[in-house]
Amino acid sequence: MVLARIRAAEIRAGREPGSVTLIAVSKTFPATAVAEAHRAGLRHFGESYAQEALSKRAEFDAPDIVWHFIGPIQSNKTRPIAAHFDWVHGIDRLRIASRLSEQRPVEMPPLNACIQVNISGEASKSGVSLADLPTLAAEIVGLARLRLRGLMAIPAPGLDDDEQRRAFRKVRDALLSLRESGLDGLDTLSMGMSDDLEAAVGEGATMVRIGTAIFGSRAR
Ligand SMILES: *Cc1c(COP(=O)(O)O)cnc(C)c1O
Repeated sequence: MVLARIRAAEIRAGREPGSVTLIAVSKTFPATAVAEAHRAGLRHFGESYAQEALSKRAEFDAPDIVWHFIGPIQSNKTRPIAAHFDWVHGIDRLRIASRLSEQRPVEMPPLNACIQVNISGEASKSGVSLADLPTLAAEIVGLARLRLRGLMAIPAPGLDDDEQRRAFRKVRDALLSLRESGLDGLDTLSMGMSDDLEAAVGEGATMVRIGTAIFGSRAR
């Protein structure tokens, strides 16, 4: 169902079918829901709370799962995140990025990281402004145990399709200008949720983070 929506959006945008990675956002849902989605073939899962994710994974985990931390990152939570996730999507401060880099265990590959950009102004406290993005990106690229992959964004709720597309286009343009400025290897646009995945895929999303449309609505 969600995969069909993604395929249709890829085709409409003239993009290769399968080029968008689906991250199943399992926050608030039990380990049994992750197990079921894994049985159905999903391999990327997103969680927003470190403690919840770790207790869930004590009940169900699999070596072929790629775990994404998509929530806000508090500095007292960086250690478990650095040790137990493959990706982090919500970096918006150098201090957090430095801690994650320092705390990434040496036996693990560098932690894949996306910088969260604020494209909704006052409506959101998370995310770096587009003005401050180039400096932050250049600093993060210098961290040894992080691998900067791209940008993540969450548009303000309640936008119509055109407004969603304009918001996502800003993120895509920001990624392109980082690349033009010489930051190579940025290949990821993490954008699109249950209500706006079509607009996001239309504007170049490479990863969509979908909760409700897979698992149903959340109690919190
Ligand atoms: C919860 C969450 C999602 C999933 O949102 P849905 O609307 O349920 O698809 C995606 N991204 C982030 C950062 C989230 O916190």
